[in-house]
Amino acid sequence: MSTLFTNVRIFDGTPSAARDGSVLVDGETIARVAYAPETIVPDAQTRVIDGAGRTLMPGLVEAHAHLTWGSSVEKIYHAFILPPDELEVAATRNARVLLDHGFTSLWSGGALGDGIEPRLAARIAAGETPGPRLVPSTLERSPEGDGVDTGDVFNGRGPEAMRAFMAYCAAQGVKSVKLVISGESALKPGSHVEVLYTPEEMDAAREAARDHGLAVTCHAYTDEAVDLALRAGARIIYHMSYISDAMVARLATLRDSVFYAPACGVSVAALEANPPPHIDMTGMKASAAERMDLERVLVPKLRAAGLRVLIGGDYGFPFNPIGRNARDIAHFVDHFGFSPLEALAAATGLGGQLIGLRLGEVRAGWLADLLLVDGDPTTDVTILQDSQRLSAIMTGGVFHKLDVPEAVVSAAN
Ligand SMILES: [Zn+2]
Repeated sequence: MSTLFTNVRIFDGTPSAARDGSVLVDGETIARVAYAPETIVPDAQTRVIDGAGRTLMPGLVEAHAHLTWGSSVEKIYHAFILPPDELEVAATRNARVLLDHGFTSLWSGGALGDGIEPRLAARIAAGETPGPRLVPSTLERSPEGDGVDTGDVFNGRGPEAMRAFMAYCAAQGVKSVKLVISGESALKPGSHVEVLYTPEEMDAAREAARDHGLAVTCHAYTDEAVDLALRAGARIIYHMSYISDAMVARLATLRDSVFYAPACGVSVAALEANPPPHIDMTGMKASAAERMDLERVLVPKLRAAGLRVLIGGDYGFPFNPIGRNARDIAHFVDHFGFSPLEALAAATGLGGQLIGLRLGEVRAGWLADLLLVDGDPTTDVTILQDSQRLSAIMTGGVFHKLDVPEAVVSAAN
């Protein structure tokens, strides 16, 4: 089955201006992209969709997804830890909610339950449940800081425990292992300066991840923690809010191998939140304010250093439910000095580079993960926060949603 989008503005996933044209999808890939005045003539079997001037663009890529953080725009949970059955239900729903909101690929930032994400990724890939492409992770690994080996496969200490954990993850079908290297001040004030691993554990992580073909994803705030993340061979590092200019310079030399996602979404939402009296967000708000002040300076520096800066912001709390993830694109414009086109490219083309598949750009031969948007997000990125403006959502050439006036969907000839 082939599909032709005609009369669309094409945003191609790079920071170049959108242009008028047509896009032909055949099977799971984009077969041809034609820019005006060139046109594509459909054959009799092609489904033709008149975009009527809407924008055709790559699906969004979330670089820091937590599907097991339960709250979404459809259902808020006031407990952070859910019973195992409910966790699986919530994760399954959250994958579909993200796809409904234009996210066609997710890089997991870790899970609250063991085995949930590999199972879910397999069910999505088999077409058994709707969702974005998912790079699954396992429990976020964050050992106690006392250096004593508990013998626990998830949080045991020492190089051997790390190797055993990596082998366990690989056997389970995990693709990216999350290592929480720094503490988290939003949860425990001042703990961002704590470091939870030793260099020997990080060396073991790097070697075992390489042997098993696993990516490493790290949560790190300070120079010491980022140094350990690099030692572990991190593919993507989250936060980094407190690093020095010397570390920025070091990261510049690694710009072709390491990705960065600041995770500003949770900070902005924490600052905006107006919680009921029995919920104390004082510590979380103070941490968020401090990090945003630092990141407003740091993120432009890292981008100038050539780092690929990606969207993704720890969505899944009641105050920043899953489904609002596209707010990150606007935050990049409002806080980090990105133009709308640059922020959209971060959310599409650069995200695709993280996933490591031919996706995130509208290009012949690439996977047809596409959005048809009512309006022009290249001038107003906030349009993408309204799922009603997504007239079509396609992954791998298959429509998850197609909502254009009936008269303009017709078989050619
Ligand atoms: Zn996270």
